[in-house]
Amino acid sequence: MGSTLVSEVTLESATGKRKMPVMGLGTAPEATSTVTTKDAVLEAIKQGYRHFDAASAYGVEQSVGEAIAEALQLGLIASRDQLFITTKLWVTDNHPQTILPALQKSLRTLQLEYIDLYLIHWPIATKPGKVVYPIEVSEIVEFDMQGVWGSMEECQRLGLTKAIGVSNFSIKKLKKLLSFATIPPAVNQVEVNLGWQQVKLRQFCKEKGITITAFSPLRKGASRGANFVLDNDVIKELADAHGKTAAQICLRWLYEQDLTFVVKSYDKERMKQNLGIFDWSLTEDDYKKISEIYQERLIKGPTKPLLDDLWDEE
Ligand code: NAP
Repeated sequence: MGSTLVSEVTLESATGKRKMPVMGLGTAPEATSTVTTKDAVLEAIKQGYRHFDAASAYGVEQSVGEAIAEALQLGLIASRDQLFITTKLWVTDNHPQTILPALQKSLRTLQLEYIDLYLIHWPIATKPGKVVYPIEVSEIVEFDMQGVWGSMEECQRLGLTKAIGVSNFSIKKLKKLLSFATIPPAVNQVEVNLGWQQVKLRQFCKEKGITITAFSPLRKGASRGANFVLDNDVIKELADAHGKTAAQICLRWLYEQDLTFVVKSYDKERMKQNLGIFDWSLTEDDYKKISEIYQERLIKGPTKPLLDDLWDEE
């Protein structure tokens, strides 16, 4: 298995029009996981994954960096350029003057000279301090989107990241960002799955040349109880008809929507299973059934209590 297994999309506003493999490995921590992030990333590289989705708030940057260093040492990859590494800045650093130091800190932790994509994790800023999740609403301060984006652009100009983007941005927030951006966001990473299909946001991003990366593509979230996508009777029926798993139906659908996506599995077999979506297709009849799946956002926000206006009623 090699790096050509997963196709790539071009990020137009990235330096050198950097390409991103459509499928990446998520690294958001789960309390139940028995496999370490370092071992999972190394195994994924062996299997042909080349795109990894980290975040400073996940506390995984050091492990991801150690796995990359070891993969290079073992000759699993010839050079760091063969990987596409994303990380995200946390809300405590979402201020114009703290962006560059936050990225420099992430680079040191990852042991990298550059990353491929730097994302604003949430359109929220809090007082500087340590990562607290869920975010206390009393910690929230005004988010200076224009000032922050100027600093993000500076990070790309300095060559510390090949591309910059956002996460959890509504159409309204993207329009505001596009009104002053010199470098438009390459990516908006948002929840997209069969239970939250995001038709309007996807259409808007397509028109503006913004690549969507779908998170929680299996809607598992981090241990969030009942899963009405993987346990959905319609999806199970489609899986049986195709001789695939429910997870593969979910991922194939994202692939056929021309989306990029990050799926988290630290299990060797499921990691392999998730790669098995590139050589078959869903039918027109499948699409009719898929359009009838009940829709509800899984990840409603990172704060306690939830904010009323986070999604701008979209
Ligand atoms: P997900 O990828 O939809 O689901 C992950 C869960 O599904 C894990 O419990 C995993 O367990 C299980 N799983 C994976 N493959 C499977 C398969 N083939 N069959 C059955 N179960 C399977 O959810 P997620 O972790 O929430 O999202 C993925 C990534 O998106 C995250 O890791 C993170 O990188 C990113 N994310 C970003 C944001 C944001 O705000 N930007 C928010 C959420 C997530 P095993 O490991 O045991 O296989």
